Amino acid sequence: MECIFCKIVAGEVPCHKVYEDDNVLAFLDIFPHAKGHTVVVPKKHVNSIFDFSSEDRTKFSTGLSAAARRVNEVIKPEGMNIGLNDRPAAGQVVPHVHWHIFPRWQGDGGGSVHSIKGQEKIDVAEIAKLFS
Ligand code: AMP
Ligand code: ZN
Repeated sequence: MECIFCKIVAGEVPCHKVYEDDNVLAFLDIFPHAKGHTVVVPKKHVNSIFDFSSEDRTKFSTGLSAAARRVNEVIKPEGMNIGLNDRPAAGQVVPHVHWHIFPRWQGDGGGSVHSIKGQEKIDVAEIAKLFS
């Protein structure tokens, strides 16, 4: 097993546990971007959210929500960003699905999800046609 998050789930690599249930494990990110920066990983190896079954979706969203509540209780931030990088083009480095929980404070200097902005000029009306 080469996956670092599978090794953490198996107890072969240590972590600072934040929350655990039958389906997910949440632990402090080793290179934190915020006080209490936490990663939430499914206990089974899944590469991408698009590989989830409908049961996985329910179980993992319940686990993510509970982990976020735990971080909120303990760290007591003023706000929170929750997100995931799905596949390398979006910045995924560890190929085992994981959500990032970033506790936030007014004026902490961090960006919002709006800081994810490419160079391309987008015509919203043209994109909307793809969904019609
Ligand atoms: P991503 O770019 O979304 O794949 O992010 C992977 C995250 O996992 C990074 O924020 C890393 O700091 C974090 N990470 C990698 N190895 C470990 C580890 N052994 N314990 C805790 N966090 C880790
Ligand atoms: Zn894995």
